[in-house]
Amino acid sequence: EVRVRFAPSPTGHLHLGGLRTALYNYLYARNKNGKFLLRIEDTDQTRLVPGATESLVEDLLWAGLQIDEGPGFGGERGPYVQSQRMTYYHDAVQALLENDTAYRCFCTERRLDLLRKEALRTRQIPRYDNKCRYLTPQQVAVLLAKNTPYCIRFKLTSHEEPLQDLIYGPVSHNVSESEGDPVIIKTDNFPTYHFANVVDDHLMGITHVFRGVEWQISTTKHLLLYKAFGWQPPMYGHLPLLVNSDGTKLSKRQGDIGIRHFREKGYFSEALVNYVVSAGGGFERTPGQKQLIYSMDELAGKFDIKRVNSHPSRLNPDLLNDFNRLHILKMLQTKTSTEHLVQSVQVLVRHAYPNERNLDLGDQHIENVLKWAAMRLTFIQDLTASKLSFLWVRPADFKLKHITNDQMQSLIDSLVGVEFTKDNLNQKLKEFAEVNHLKFAVFMKTLRSALSGLKEGPGVAEMMDILGKDSALQRLKSTLN
Ligand code: GLU
Repeated sequence: EVRVRFAPSPTGHLHLGGLRTALYNYLYARNKNGKFLLRIEDTDQTRLVPGATESLVEDLLWAGLQIDEGPGFGGERGPYVQSQRMTYYHDAVQALLENDTAYRCFCTERRLDLLRKEALRTRQIPRYDNKCRYLTPQQVAVLLAKNTPYCIRFKLTSHEEPLQDLIYGPVSHNVSESEGDPVIIKTDNFPTYHFANVVDDHLMGITHVFRGVEWQISTTKHLLLYKAFGWQPPMYGHLPLLVNSDGTKLSKRQGDIGIRHFREKGYFSEALVNYVVSAGGGFERTPGQKQLIYSMDELAGKFDIKRVNSHPSRLNPDLLNDFNRLHILKMLQTKTSTEHLVQSVQVLVRHAYPNERNLDLGDQHIENVLKWAAMRLTFIQDLTASKLSFLWVRPADFKLKHITNDQMQSLIDSLVGVEFTKDNLNQKLKEFAEVNHLKFAVFMKTLRSALSGLKEGPGVAEMMDILGKDSALQRLKSTLN
């Protein structure tokens, strides 16, 4: 069974980069009928942000990712929060101490600092000199008896481990240049990222790891740890950098790339998800094919890891807006999602006009408006723009002027059979004014205020077209005595 995980550190809100990683894991799992796990990597206690886990979960669920196992989601291999798994790390490190692939290091901060300074002075890369590797068991026993603080380091006896990356192909990174034996358990007893990550991936039965390419160098270390344990490592695939359309790094200002930001602006999660995969790839693309928006299920069905880009993935913000419009159109094609959309508009409008009693919020009316809007607006929130207030706010206490009750009644009667398009209506209204000897400009003014209560605004025919026949005629009828 395929088991993948998204393993964020709870240091802030979810942003596009994090969503991309989570999404590719998720699509892989769904495509293979596997499981998607959420694991919280909170061993660096200094960087924790209160509430970050809850916020990450909320954003993942909003985006449409269902979590099969994770904190609060059940699962047999928990707990899924690293700070609650200390005993597992201590048992695991014991195994490495016993098979002599790890050792206790009693070096003081002061000594390590001196090593760093000396390296800088002689222009070398600062790294630990592995001194404690060579302590005898007797020396260790004496130091332990004196309660000397220690950390535990992993013996790097080899420095390279070739990797068959599922996205990049064969790669190999040498770890020896950059450091001495890496710390796996810190002096405060907490595991380091590398150690906890390997132990948990193993204990949680993770079969495939998809993560950002910035972790690719660390993978060598992880593979060496697996070897020391005698465990079978998972398969790794590293996802390339996600970049702006001009190739520059994604904005550092989290606000701009935060999932919250997109949510608040009114993007549908489907639009955001299609936006991210349009940059990252993973799907067969027919050149010249018209842009389509896919549901999560459709994406999962089509997903192919071999087609994921290994070059930097450029985001195209125009596409994001296109996807949002496409999603509105798509929702209007089925009954249940139309009902959904209608309800969202009702909520938005009530919210925008909290004190208005005379709101036009009938389902059919909203559906008409949405059909008109789908080709023109990017966000359904745009429907509450003040220049469109006439859509929702019915004019109150209108007194007929410049036109008689009978004339209004006959106008209504003559419009019942007319197809409501701007041109048709323009023509009908002109004819009506002529036949009834009404001054056209005055007639239009009267109709505008009867329909909307407004003195100015869009042309009357256009307004009627947008309102739709039902609402428009109803508004005209309510002016009759
Ligand atoms: N906690 C790491 C992160 O925040 C996880 C990296 C990985 O997936 O191994 O990205």
